[in-house]
Amino acid sequence: MSNALGQQHFMLLSGASRGIGHATVKLFQERSWRILTISRHPFSDECLWPAARESHIQADLANLSSLDELVADVRSRLPDGRLHALVNNAGISPRSPDGSRLGTMATNAETWHAVLNVNLISTALLAQKLQPELAKAKGSVVNVTSIAGSRVHPFAGVAYAASKAALAALTREMAHEFGPYGIRVNAIAPGEIDTAMLSPGTNEIVEREIPLRRLGEPREVAEAIFFLCSERSSYINGAEIHISGGQHV
Ligand code: NAD
Repeated sequence: MSNALGQQHFMLLSGASRGIGHATVKLFQERSWRILTISRHPFSDECLWPAARESHIQADLANLSSLDELVADVRSRLPDGRLHALVNNAGISPRSPDGSRLGTMATNAETWHAVLNVNLISTALLAQKLQPELAKAKGSVVNVTSIAGSRVHPFAGVAYAASKAALAALTREMAHEFGPYGIRVNAIAPGEIDTAMLSPGTNEIVEREIPLRRLGEPREVAEAIFFLCSERSSYINGAEIHISGGQHV
């Protein structure tokens, strides 16, 4: 996509290798946006869409000391210093070795640090470091929270839930701080989306808790992210949109 002056729109998205992130880059790409992606792993041929390889930046968001180098790489790829969308999608939800929920009693300091670094702190620092590029484009930030941030979930652990609740608070804070620069900051809170993150047993939740009685598709989440990055949502700032088939009601 380009504006009246023919400048291309750029999106930076974390966690593009699969799931919601993968569906989102494909959708933005179909709508002619230029994409930059952050992934932990080297480029994989499984994540194929035109220009995927050139768009790929390898970085581990659990390692906060790598963020300066990552941001320098992003800047060098923005032709006129404008970033129109930052989508903070990467997330981890660790489980115990037997697959059960990691509650307060079972979560050690190492797990707390890893989850908070990836799901929360790297998000705040990326937005902080790229604020000038977002301001120049009057861009949009979308943080991917979760239904687990606002209610106890049978599979999501305590560190994950706390990180997502904090990410919702960070969204509110950033909407307040970045709004005067013309940057909108919003969140989307998925429920049960058909990705590798789901646990066995999710089918029971679908029957018991989701009014629409089905899982969500990654593409349905991608559409909401696209809306929040487009002009159609030009007065929406500081919102958290539930994409859960009504699971949150
Ligand atoms: P996924 O596990 O399929 O994908 C997560 C992505 O994050 C992957 O691309 C992974 O490589 C990346 N990632 C993880 N750790 C990283 C790190 N240290 N550095 C860089 N990248 C890293 O999950 P998904 O289901 O597509 O989830 C995407 C987002 O949606 C997450 O923030 C998740 O918490 C949220 N979410 C998902 C669901 C769901 O039902 N799938 C529900 C609620 C919220």
